[in-house]
Amino acid sequence: MTVTRFAPSPTGYMHIGNLRTALYAYLVAKHDNGTFILRIEDTDRERFVEGATDIIKDTLRITGLRYDEGPDVGGEHGPYVQSERKAIYMEYAKRLVDLGAAYYCFCSKERLEKLHEEDAVGGYDRHCRNLSPGQVQKNLDAGLPFVIRQKAPLTGVTTYTDSVFGEISMNNEELQDQILIKADGYPTYNFCHVIDDYLMGVTHVVRGSEYLTSTPKYVLLYDAFGWERPTYVHLPLMMGKNEDGTVSKLSKRHGAVSFQDLLSDGYLPEAILNYIALLGWCPKDSTREFFTLDELKEVFTIDGVSKSPAVFDYDKLLWFNGEYIHALSDERFLAYADTFMKEAYPETLNKDKMLALLKTRIAKLSELDDRAAFFRELPAYDKELFLNKKNKITEYDTVRTVLTQARPILSELTAFDNDTLFAALSPLGEALGMKLGAIMWCLRIAVSGLSATPGGATEIMEVIGREQTLARIDHALSLL
Ligand code: GLU
Repeated sequence: MTVTRFAPSPTGYMHIGNLRTALYAYLVAKHDNGTFILRIEDTDRERFVEGATDIIKDTLRITGLRYDEGPDVGGEHGPYVQSERKAIYMEYAKRLVDLGAAYYCFCSKERLEKLHEEDAVGGYDRHCRNLSPGQVQKNLDAGLPFVIRQKAPLTGVTTYTDSVFGEISMNNEELQDQILIKADGYPTYNFCHVIDDYLMGVTHVVRGSEYLTSTPKYVLLYDAFGWERPTYVHLPLMMGKNEDGTVSKLSKRHGAVSFQDLLSDGYLPEAILNYIALLGWCPKDSTREFFTLDELKEVFTIDGVSKSPAVFDYDKLLWFNGEYIHALSDERFLAYADTFMKEAYPETLNKDKMLALLKTRIAKLSELDDRAAFFRELPAYDKELFLNKKNKITEYDTVRTVLTQARPILSELTAFDNDTLFAALSPLGEALGMKLGAIMWCLRIAVSGLSATPGGATEIMEVIGREQTLARIDHALSLL
């Protein structure tokens, strides 16, 4: 049975790189009908940010990455918040000491600082590595503060195979005797994630490639305990495009990088998820790009994950988002629109029709308000806007004639829907010896004050209603 986990540290917002990790971990599990666990890694108390855990949970809820075990939902391996598991780590660290793979270190802060001053890169000098058991016991009895360090092998090579990056080896002489339990009794990430992955039955460790080269230290811990190593799936870096064409690690200067910011910017959760699914993975034997989460579960396999850095392309995301918005049901679009359109609308305005016109013409929801502004209120415009060579409108007189003739037709109509309007206005073309397109051009400018609009003249009239239509035509006539 495949078990994966997403193990974020609650240090702030949800970076989209992290969300991709969550998604891939979820997919690796769900492709096999396995278990997906959420574990909160909050033992680094200095980096802990209040409220960050809620952001993580909200993000997973909104994107539909439902976890089978985790805080709130529970499960047989809880608690799922590391700060609540402190005692467990201490117990396992002591076991590791007994196994000869870790040791107590009583070095004072001052000693370590001095060491660092003398040789910043050399690291810890293993001063306490060979203390006699008697001395250790004496120090413990005396209540000396201590840390517990990993006793890394001094010679040889440690190797593991990553499912994406292949064989990774490290000369053991390069390894530090890293701290497993800190002086405050809290474990380091290096230690507790291994203990938890083991205790929670994690079979596949899916995470960012920044952990690729520290993983030899972790497999040594598995080996020391005699535990079976998990399968490692390190994900490629996520890069952003710089202005000069180079790429660097995706950060705020490339654009919004948090899931929350993308949402407020008008991106849909499902579009974001679909897009980031493709940042580091592609389906086998197909160039297909659109996937629902359920479809991803079907097709996602680890051998489709690439080790080349993935470049986040905001234009591509925007395009994806537009496609997703256009495909929304009217109902869902209306629900989204409500949160993005703050201003009040005139009562006579047909909001549903307006949103139907806008839906297929925006790429993100935050464009809605701007694009809808002219429906709410006629913008100031210059009468020159009416002149248009393509429609052979070169004189204001022509426009005046069209508007003057159209006005009584419009004011007498009993229904004011698009079809009725179109049918009623169509004969004007023949009557005035003009193309219908030219007639509609004049009317569209008059009712919108814009040269480019979502929808044609009669569609706009239907949205703003008879009263506004006539008022806007009167305004145009006064300009002319
Ligand atoms: N807490 C670590 C992080 O957020 C987790 C890394 C891992 O998945 O092992 O980067």
